[in-house]
Amino acid sequence: MDHSQLHNSGSSVAADRVTPVSETTPELDVLRRVFGYDEFRGEQAEIIAHVAGGGDALVLMPTGGGKSLCYQIPSLVRAGTGVVVSPLIALMQDQVDALSALGVRAGFLNSTQMPHERQQVEKALLAGELDMLYLAPERLRVPETGRLLDQAKISLFAIDEAHCVSQWGHDFRPDYLQLSHLHERWPEVPRIALTATATAETRREIASRLDLEDARHFVASFDRPNIQYRIAPKDKPAKQLLDLIRTEHPGEAGIVYCLSRNSVERTAATLVGAGIDALPYHAGLDARTRAQNQSRFLREDGIVMVATIAFGMGIDKPDVRFVAHLDLPKSVEGYYQETGRAGRDGQPSTAWLAYGLADVVQQRQMIETSEGDRAHKHRLGQHLNAMLALCETVDCRRVQLLRYFGQTAEPCGNCDTCLATPESWDGTVPAQKVLSTVIRLDRERNGQRFGAGQIVDILRGKETEKVRQFRHHELSVFGIGTDIAESDWHSVIRQLLAREMLAVDTRYGVFSVADAAGPVLRSEQQLMLRKEPPRQARRSGSGERKPKVAAADLSPEASEVFERLRAWRGEVAKEQGVPAYVVFHDATLREIATRLPASRDELGTISGIGEAKLEKYAEGVLAVL
Ligand code: ADP
Ligand code: ZN
Repeated sequence: MDHSQLHNSGSSVAADRVTPVSETTPELDVLRRVFGYDEFRGEQAEIIAHVAGGGDALVLMPTGGGKSLCYQIPSLVRAGTGVVVSPLIALMQDQVDALSALGVRAGFLNSTQMPHERQQVEKALLAGELDMLYLAPERLRVPETGRLLDQAKISLFAIDEAHCVSQWGHDFRPDYLQLSHLHERWPEVPRIALTATATAETRREIASRLDLEDARHFVASFDRPNIQYRIAPKDKPAKQLLDLIRTEHPGEAGIVYCLSRNSVERTAATLVGAGIDALPYHAGLDARTRAQNQSRFLREDGIVMVATIAFGMGIDKPDVRFVAHLDLPKSVEGYYQETGRAGRDGQPSTAWLAYGLADVVQQRQMIETSEGDRAHKHRLGQHLNAMLALCETVDCRRVQLLRYFGQTAEPCGNCDTCLATPESWDGTVPAQKVLSTVIRLDRERNGQRFGAGQIVDILRGKETEKVRQFRHHELSVFGIGTDIAESDWHSVIRQLLAREMLAVDTRYGVFSVADAAGPVLRSEQQLMLRKEPPRQARRSGSGERKPKVAAADLSPEASEVFERLRAWRGEVAKEQGVPAYVVFHDATLREIATRLPASRDELGTISGIGEAKLEKYAEGVLAVL
């Protein structure tokens, strides 16, 4: 562009408007040419300019926010190789494949490689033939790695999943602690640390441990508007899950989280028995089976992965349509990170959690019996309480979630409480009835264990065998609660547990009345409780959603083309041994199917098609069309 023209054409603002090309930066050029995207999202442009200019950065962005480009583009713009430290060894091959598909020269070094493979990568690095190098943190422990990096030209260090440096967090990796030395050894190389976990506390810890206090901090909005958050009372979890999959996400990819290996196995078997393509994933499976299952989940369409939380970090499959929790997560941070794996492509997705009284009992017991000092247990208790507050809120889930991350929002209209607002009711008297029953049972117990079931039977005046055996029908509280349904009594007890008015005995799981219940017992405090909206209402929002999001809102003709493109993509991906989304994302296929480009040039204007993909796939796509 001839710059003299700009000055001749009047004010510079007007000139900018008529000649947008003049705004092109090297970064924007790479975005368009290599990645095939038109514009930066959110703060990407600023972050990338800052790092490309040699500045340090700490980036907090939710999953799917677009963190990868924040270090990939500076790596391509700056001279030398961008070194990406990542704990995700099992995914490095996929990441390198995805970059290679874009024409980016990338390699990785980790412990799974054979010595000769490693040597090849090292040679390429020293010859200046790598744009990006993925490095497992444990490689930094090896002195040769330091010497290797000394001899290479490094353009930047990217520290991915930076929350792994936090000892209080849920993903602590001791090897991450060494990353504080990067700055001392290579003071000229800019560093960018990225994470999707972001309470103020974790952020402070990351900054201090990675020596990034003077770095620029970029904190994006943590909202994920395309995810519908829903928390349902746990009733028959397997059936509820099947219902969710069948009515809202048939044939779609999803992740189901369970707490234990056993429940992973059981749930996966139930789903398979119901004809759903489900696979288990937990630490008890051998490494090969785990790798195989993960690979199938990534590569094939529509697989449901049933897993413990050991699964999922760094999984960048864009079309995970739902994340279901069958057990209560231990913290809001963990929950948000896990649910964040849904809908990275920005399409409507569901985060569904089933939660019940037994979850609270189990978690409280686990904390009490966990190792660690009082302070540690106290911390775990706080994490759990925040999670419980989210479950029991009568306000918008999203507002509550974002508030936890220090951000504000308006009620979203896309969560269960917004779609069917639960009532808040005065539960003071029912709570007093429960508490009195617990006190009486506590006196009479004689080593017997009575759980919530017995309490409810007593209140409802049910003369069961166990009631008669212990003469509980003679208690003064017997039958004083016939006006409230059984499930509502469970809800009252659950909420008393959540607010720590009831305590749980560590050994037997029996209840006792805690100090916090005093004011309610003495009628000095009114206790407002959450009342579940009727089941039908709860569903209303989601019921309107069309299933099969991938093909949603396409005309019948476009939909037919889309399916053909998908079949073509499947074959190409299989031939090349890469996940389908490495070839093209659904969104790209959808745009092709609606715009029906007639030429190579037209195809090149579609979002997600850069130079390398155009070169490789133009012929194939045009043939399908
Ligand atoms: P994160 O690492 O933050 O979870 P990713 O880097 O994987 O997110 O990006 C999420 C998705 O958004 C990816 O599919 C990516 O290709 C896409 N994406 C990122 N930035 C842009 C952009 N500027 N324009 C279009 N798509 C983008
Ligand atoms: Zn809401």
